[in-house]
Amino acid sequence: MPRPRWPDRLAVAQTSRARSDALRRRRVVEQAEGMHVRVDGQSLLSFCSNDYLGLATSLDAVAALQEAAARHGLGSGASALVSGHHALHARFEREAAEWMGHERALYFPSGYQANLAVLQALLEPGDLCVQDKLNHACLLDGARLAGAELRRYPHRDYAAALRQLQSLPEAAAVLATDSVFSMDGDVAPLRELALAATGEHALFMVDEAHGVGVLGPEGRGAWAAAGLSARDVPVLVAPLGKAFGGQGALVFGAASLIEHLLQSARPYVFSTAVAPALAAAMSANLHRLRHDAWRRAKLASLVARFRRGALRHGLPVLDSSTPIQPLLLGSNSLALAVARSLEQRGFWVPAIRPPTVPDGKARLRITLSAAHTEAEVDALLDALAACLEDAGVEA
Ligand SMILES: *Cc1c(COP(=O)(O)O)cnc(C)c1O
Repeated sequence: MPRPRWPDRLAVAQTSRARSDALRRRRVVEQAEGMHVRVDGQSLLSFCSNDYLGLATSLDAVAALQEAAARHGLGSGASALVSGHHALHARFEREAAEWMGHERALYFPSGYQANLAVLQALLEPGDLCVQDKLNHACLLDGARLAGAELRRYPHRDYAAALRQLQSLPEAAAVLATDSVFSMDGDVAPLRELALAATGEHALFMVDEAHGVGVLGPEGRGAWAAAGLSARDVPVLVAPLGKAFGGQGALVFGAASLIEHLLQSARPYVFSTAVAPALAAAMSANLHRLRHDAWRRAKLASLVARFRRGALRHGLPVLDSSTPIQPLLLGSNSLALAVARSLEQRGFWVPAIRPPTVPDGKARLRITLSAAHTEAEVDALLDALAACLEDAGVEA
């Protein structure tokens, strides 16, 4: 066999994506004012941002960023262990740890990187990583990077999680789950999983990407809403691209765990520290996220309004009580057709297709935000009902 030629490989892959309606296109956002955006020259109302509290446009955060950048410049200039760790990062980590009730926090450039880092630094070949089948891609990738034995249990099945932990009783083990599942919007059985982990001496790790800001007292997340303590959840990851309205991620844990990460997590050690001005902006948004209880209350009331309307219209919504409200459509082509027809009516809700979701489970992923109004949610519901009828989907 001759060595495969790269142009042929790429062409075959692209053709196969096109044939299964799996090609994706990046839309160009030209302007955004809250959820009102200009995309490729068209004005649309966005129902696909994870900016759940409207903090991406927080005036405090923008002012803090401008002031810090004027004073300290833009880039951090180096990794944190060389010379990139700034007083603004240190302050943000201290404030965040105090808010979350964990000893320490460590600020990473992204959530993807944070999850890779934690799993790579903790696990090695021969160790066990037990995960929910629907966990975010970066948790799966982290276990693979570590070279650990990855075992995935059926979605939210804590009894299966316990059995998988028991199946390798001598291996060091991490049990990792999303708190709110990013494509389904449902919540993991955190109390039961914490119990399984504790009983099996496994480290319990929770990714709160879609929980922080939205759930729990002061927006601490689903683990706090479930009444768990820092001892029950020794590793928490909080990406900041969602309700924080910014970028990066915090990892929370005991001082010994955070010290181990900053000494040995390759995705932390070998990457430039986040821009200090961004840390200043995230401090400002942490304050808003903690204390603007009205944002959480408004969001919860919009979610309830959407659910009531969706049930009244007979829309195929999944069983979710979070701001992630997926409409299950099944085939890629149907999801694309409905998304296109919504866009013609002025709404931006992209079709989510494999590999982001399992085959045959294409959907519209609707996300609500405190930046929406009741009238906008009602208008979306009417448009969804009309588009599904046009597409011949039975209510
Ligand atoms: C978005 C997301 C991440 C990745 O965070 P980024 O900061 O976007 O890299 C990790 N986990 C979950 C569950 C997410 O939804």
